[in-house]
Amino acid sequence: MHSFEFIRPEDSAKAISTAAQAKTAQQGADVRFIAGGTTLVDLMKLNVETPARVVDINRLPLDKIEATTDGGLKIGATARNSDLAHHPTVQKDYPVLSQALLAGASGQLRNMATTAGNLLQRTRCMYFRDTAMPCNKREPGTGCPAITGANRMLAVLGTSDHCIATNPSDMCVAMAALEATIHVQGPKGTRAIAFGDFHLLPGNTPNRETVLEPGDLVTHVTLPPPKAGSKQVYLKLRDRASYEFALASAAVVLTMAGGNISQARIALGGVGTKPWRSPEAEAALAGKPANAATFGKAADAALRNAKPQSENKFKIELAKRCLIHALQMAVKA
Ligand SMILES: Cc1cc2nc3c(=O)[nH]c(=O)nc-3n(C[C@H](O)[C@H](O)[C@H](O)COP(=O)(O)OP(=O)(O)OC[C@H]3O[C@@H](n4cnc5c(N)ncnc54)[C@H](O)[C@@H]3O)c2cc1C
Ligand code: SF4
Repeated sequence: MHSFEFIRPEDSAKAISTAAQAKTAQQGADVRFIAGGTTLVDLMKLNVETPARVVDINRLPLDKIEATTDGGLKIGATARNSDLAHHPTVQKDYPVLSQALLAGASGQLRNMATTAGNLLQRTRCMYFRDTAMPCNKREPGTGCPAITGANRMLAVLGTSDHCIATNPSDMCVAMAALEATIHVQGPKGTRAIAFGDFHLLPGNTPNRETVLEPGDLVTHVTLPPPKAGSKQVYLKLRDRASYEFALASAAVVLTMAGGNISQARIALGGVGTKPWRSPEAEAALAGKPANAATFGKAADAALRNAKPQSENKFKIELAKRCLIHALQMAVKA
């Protein structure tokens, strides 16, 4: 048992200065922001997260979804996943994001879950969520039982000898393909972080999942202006049709010139230790005809460095087929 203090700050500065007193913004943080609570409260009930103070950011004015002056979109940190998925601009100009959000969790969860909370959701690795088990991510240096244990759902890209946990987010896969930027306000001021730089590979510090430091508040995410005429698809493959995390997923953003692909932005979910942008697949698609041979080469390139675990070799072929199918769907979109 632990006790904690629930704080409702009146402004961002107060929220940040309170959170800045934490020793870390990573696993083991003694101060946590709470938004929808659908990750944090779960983990507090399991004693995986044991913050002494929880700072409620739901009253801060961070829930707007609005156009930026350059024609892009600004998404507030506490905008709910449902509101974002059904926003007319997202449905029209960034359909891959709407599809990814609607593929995640359930309607009730999406009504609570927020943009920043989704960015910072934690792995579903069963050992991480069970404090009776060792886990390098939860308790550095204790070991990784998943490597020789139940790893069917876990990652094949970006793994290390210390952790093979999958990043479970659907939204993040779409944001990686859309080349989003994450905006943070911290004790030292504001900064913008390219999406691909926000999440970290596990390496030998799997407890450190993002570049956030104590006091860092994600304020909003921006999307660049939509690519004119782009074709977008999010495809998620999972064990059941809804309310389940991805075994493999693909976010595809294509711009076409006649029958050729002029530019491709590709990201994969369910297979990487972080939302997995694939520059290899993008290079294999750029300037090539949109046909089965090209899509097959792109899928091979995306999974070339995949390392299977004892129970998840099937994910490599599944992810390839997922990407190929998503590309076929995008071309017809
Ligand atoms: C049963 C179930 C099924 C699910 N299925 C899916 C699925 O299929 N696909 C999917 O993608 N997700 C799924 N999820 C995860 C869900 O999307 C996340 O729990 C949700 O997006 C987290 O958002 P939140 O606002 O509730 O976060 P919270 O729980 O409030 O916070 C999560 C973390 O983010 C931090 N945080 C929140 N806001 C900020 C901020 N502004 N700045 C800095 N730190 C912040 C918190 O401190 C905490 O560490 C599922 C969840 C559940 C419970
Ligand atoms: S895969 Fe990562 S989260 Fe899972 S047990 Fe190993 S160290 Fe922990």
